[in-house]
Amino acid sequence: MTDQDHPARRLLLVHAHPDDESINNGATMAKYAAEGARVTLVTCTLGEEGEVIPPALAHLAADRDDTLGAHRVAELAAAMKELGVTDHRFLGGPGRFRDSGMMGAPQNHREGAFWAAPVDEAAAYLVEVIRSVRPQVLITYDPDGGYGHPDHIQAHRVAMRAADLAADASFREDLGAPHTIAKIYWNRVPRGYAEDGFARLRAARVSFPATGAVDDIPGVVDDAVITTEIDGTAYAAAKTAAMRAHATQIAVEGDFFALSNNLGQPVLTTEYYELVRGERAAGSRETDLFAGVTP
Ligand SMILES: [Zn+2]
Repeated sequence: MTDQDHPARRLLLVHAHPDDESINNGATMAKYAAEGARVTLVTCTLGEEGEVIPPALAHLAADRDDTLGAHRVAELAAAMKELGVTDHRFLGGPGRFRDSGMMGAPQNHREGAFWAAPVDEAAAYLVEVIRSVRPQVLITYDPDGGYGHPDHIQAHRVAMRAADLAADASFREDLGAPHTIAKIYWNRVPRGYAEDGFARLRAARVSFPATGAVDDIPGVVDDAVITTEIDGTAYAAAKTAAMRAHATQIAVEGDFFALSNNLGQPVLTTEYYELVRGERAAGSRETDLFAGVTP
C-alpha cells in the first residue's frame, strides 16, 4: 500500500505532553514527513499542569483559570504545521487523560489523571491507532520516562504495552487486525553531544540567567548506548520554529532554549535513539529509523 493514507514508511511517536515531541524529535519528525513518510503523533495529555512562561498568559494555569489544556492543543497544532506533520492525535481523544504533576504531587491521584489510569485501559486506545496506522517504527521514552516525570513513565508503559497488545491476535479483535511493530526506539541523548551543546551555550551571549546541567537533559546516556543517529541539520529551523510554537512552555533564543525553570539548554538538532526491539545491522550506528524494514 503506497497511497496517501498508507505511505510505504510509517512512524509513530508517543509522547506525554504537547512540546515533548518538538524538543525530543522535532528534526526527526520534520525529516520523515518531508521525505513522504506517514508521521503519526499520539500525545497522552493536554499538559494542563504545565507552568506558564509568558506573564500575559499566566492566567491560563491550572491554579488560576485552568484553561491551559485548550491553549496547548492550539500550540501543538501550530508546532505540527512547522514540522509538516498532519496526523496528530490525543490518546483517547483530547482531555481523556489529564496531565499529572511531578512525582509525589497530589493531582497525580485525581480522577482522570494519566498517571492514575490502568495501563491496559490507556493502552487499548493506542492499540486502535497502531492497528489502523500500522507503523513499522515506534519512538517513545525509556522506562524512567527520560527524567522521572510520572506522565513520561506512564507514556513509556502504555506505548510498550500497546505494542505487545496490538500484535496479540487474541486481544480486542474489535480494534482491528493484529499488527507487529518492527522496530521500537527510546529517545536518547549521548553525553558527549550534550556536553558539546552546553559548551556552545556557555560561549554564546544569551539572556538566560543560568545554564542547565547535562544530567538534567532527559535520556542522557553514555555514547556507547546509542544505536541510531538522525542528522536533522537540514530541519533545525523547523525544529526551532516548532519549539517556539509552544510559547507557554518554551522560550527560544537563537539555537538555545529554556523551559519554565529558566535554565538555558542547547537545541539539539541531531537526534539520537536506542533501538530496543528489532534488528540492526552489526557495527556502526544506524542513520535511518527504517533501516532493514520492509514496507
Ligand atoms: Zn513532558
